[in-house]
Amino acid sequence: MRRHRAVVDTARVHALRFGYDEIATPIFEFTEVFARPIGETTDIVMKEMYSFADKGGEEVTLRPENTAGVVRAVIANGLTQSLPLRFFYQGPMFRYERPQKGRFRQFHQIGVELIGVKEPQGDVEVIALGADILAALGVLERTALHLNTLGDAESRGLYRDALVKYFTQHAHKLSEDSRKRLERNPLRILDSKDAADIALSAAAPHFENYLTPASREFFGRVRDGLDALGIKYTLNPRLVRGLDYYTHTAFEFVTTELGSQGAVLAGGRYDGLMGVMGGPETPGVGWAAGIERLALMIAEPASPPRPIALVPIGDDGEKRALALAQELRRAGFTIDLAYSGNLQKRMRRADKIMARAAVILGEDELKRGQAAVRDLDAGTQEDVPLTALKDRLASFRG
Ligand code: ATP
Ligand code: MG
Repeated sequence: MRRHRAVVDTARVHALRFGYDEIATPIFEFTEVFARPIGETTDIVMKEMYSFADKGGEEVTLRPENTAGVVRAVIANGLTQSLPLRFFYQGPMFRYERPQKGRFRQFHQIGVELIGVKEPQGDVEVIALGADILAALGVLERTALHLNTLGDAESRGLYRDALVKYFTQHAHKLSEDSRKRLERNPLRILDSKDAADIALSAAAPHFENYLTPASREFFGRVRDGLDALGIKYTLNPRLVRGLDYYTHTAFEFVTTELGSQGAVLAGGRYDGLMGVMGGPETPGVGWAAGIERLALMIAEPASPPRPIALVPIGDDGEKRALALAQELRRAGFTIDLAYSGNLQKRMRRADKIMARAAVILGEDELKRGQAAVRDLDAGTQEDVPLTALKDRLASFRG
């Protein structure tokens, strides 16, 4: 959880600097919120969604991703009146897939959405934000940014036809999944993890050759922007998105450190999504990153402060301990107070929890208005007036 929080807190700080405020949308939505835009054709909907009927017979789905939920919220709340919108989110997502290292059925994502900016600078902005977050987490150097363009709708149509033609010629060599994709969603074949599909995809037509001049120009400006910011990238024509509402830029920060679970942050432009979901045609671009995968890659976050153990002895000590513990906590100390056990047992516990010091409240000391303070690292002990206790303990901070 400390690692998890380090990822989220770091991301939130950087997102705020770019003007992305946090949004939280429901963890489940009506199934159509995901089914309609994601389409019945993609792997996510076909195999990975947790969908069920609720007690009222409504079809609901645990969110597999958050872009559709954010867009639904924007439409439902009439926020398209105040574009552009910049949102950061974090939270659980659910996909029915085979659990393994870095792949879970409940996992967590951070993500950003920039809604209402049609210019290529928007793409550059969200990529720059992603890169800043990865850099702040100390993982940017261990990833590579893959970049591709899916062009506009016209380019996509032309490319789709070319792909169908090519893969149809080689249909007998395709995996069973990809043979299905050939009819429904040929672009997804390029994203297949099957060895035979990968081999065939290598010689498939390149999207580049089917881009309209306007799409080519858009991509050029995205690349110019990244160059201007010194953000390095590799062009990867195999980087695709199966969904029709995706347009232009697709990108992914990939690492080789997590085996086949290499994608840590993935995103792209989705100019068609708002329209597909019943809102006014509005451009959008964003990304999502897997918190668990990032958490595996970051350095161990700083430990919480070491506690001070309060060790009361006898009735007088017990009576004083509760209130003293509260007083010290309010002064900012982390206090551990056990409620049972003799002196020896409590001192063993203080060791076990790596307490920095123990404050022993014995009868004799209390009569003198003092407590015995034991420095557990140095092994030294001294009597300290209760009135000077906070000052003495302050020296154990940091
Ligand atoms: P993959 O190709 O690894 O299945 P994906 O294309 O399904 O990833 P996206 O839908 O783009 O992933 O989600 C964005 C990010 O969320 C991924 O790059 C990854 O870091 C993370 N992610 C996706 N699915 C899982 C999962 N089941 N468990 C943990 N993290 C995940
Ligand atoms: Mg997946």
